[in-house]
Amino acid sequence: MKTGYNILEKDLLDDFLAMVQIDSPSKSERGMADWLTEKLVSLGCKVEEDDAGSKVDGNAGNLLVYLKGNTDADPLLLSAHMDTVEPANGVVPIIEDGVVRSKGETVLGSDDKAGLACIVQLARLAKDQPDVPRPDLEFSIHISEEVGLLGSKLIDVSKFRSKIGFVLDDTDALKVNTGSPGAVRLDYTVYGKASHAGVAPEKGISALKVAAEILAKMNFGRIDDETTANVGKIEGGTASNVVTEKITMSAEARSHDPKKLKAQVDHMNGCFEEVCKKWQEASKHLWEGTEEGPLPRWEVDQGEDYAPVKFSEDDYGVKLPMAAGRSLGWDMETKVSGGGTDGSILTQKGIPSVVLGVGMRDIHSTKENIAISDLNDAAKLCVTLVTMHAQGGVS
Ligand SMILES: [Zn+2]
Repeated sequence: MKTGYNILEKDLLDDFLAMVQIDSPSKSERGMADWLTEKLVSLGCKVEEDDAGSKVDGNAGNLLVYLKGNTDADPLLLSAHMDTVEPANGVVPIIEDGVVRSKGETVLGSDDKAGLACIVQLARLAKDQPDVPRPDLEFSIHISEEVGLLGSKLIDVSKFRSKIGFVLDDTDALKVNTGSPGAVRLDYTVYGKASHAGVAPEKGISALKVAAEILAKMNFGRIDDETTANVGKIEGGTASNVVTEKITMSAEARSHDPKKLKAQVDHMNGCFEEVCKKWQEASKHLWEGTEEGPLPRWEVDQGEDYAPVKFSEDDYGVKLPMAAGRSLGWDMETKVSGGGTDGSILTQKGIPSVVLGVGMRDIHSTKENIAISDLNDAAKLCVTLVTMHAQGGVS
């Protein structure tokens, strides 16, 4: 029995090039879902599509894919996403000096079709080299990752048996992601009181002025090495001659540490509370006894986007890819990421999932590119960790 796979480099690149030429902006993943379903079924996988698409107003659902193994090792989950950021349509891949990039008018879509190419490669190898030991494999292939991790949030993980997963969706193929921050979304509204700005400004309470005072008080940007916050959008007002009645603000806070995340959110909410209280005192004569009640006032629509994830170097999900990479003679490193991933959601849902790099570079830009050698390395790492796991794993 052979112990390891020989990567099918030509098929890997061909699959990748075929996929980047299928338009798949978020919520329009139909073409990708169909291509993957046909390909994976032809390679011996069972493919189910869920109804997540209809829930996010998209045209395709998540794919839940099952590939039978040939050992009794515990199953492993691998995950990637089908959608890309814009400009996404009409990608023309160009290969120069061993690097694939787009013609320059679109992204390339290696984020995350490089991850998908690794998944297809695993299915290809299982068929091409059936004697190599492998566990049962489960692939969780998501829609709408780029617009708020929508697909992974809707996937039913009870349909998987894996107790551990790998999300193939990061830059450097030789780095293992051991942590990502948690994030809280904060949509604020500040209510003031409208009045004619020329005739009776003293009868109004400017929500804009209140908001400005709140923002001047608030700490955001880089808070510490683990924590960031931002107020990214502010909207309100109707005309120059009307005292602003309402302001809305879209904000967020992120941290790798749940306590620091809560402290930052408390601080931000506290700024609204403190400034509005002060103004309410000063403008009592404008609202006391009215139906509206105290003005100015604030409210927040607050939601956890994803929880912080922290793996230790002793966790099997970190040890396995590190050992797989070292067995290939590579210097493996760990890193932490600045954003949430489908790995955050799968972990939160009970399948601890470590994010691995697949070689994509300059992502979310028209300069996006990937070196073919990095794509090959990413696939090698995936298949090596799978075969290593099937042969007893690492202790
Ligand atoms: Zn991605």
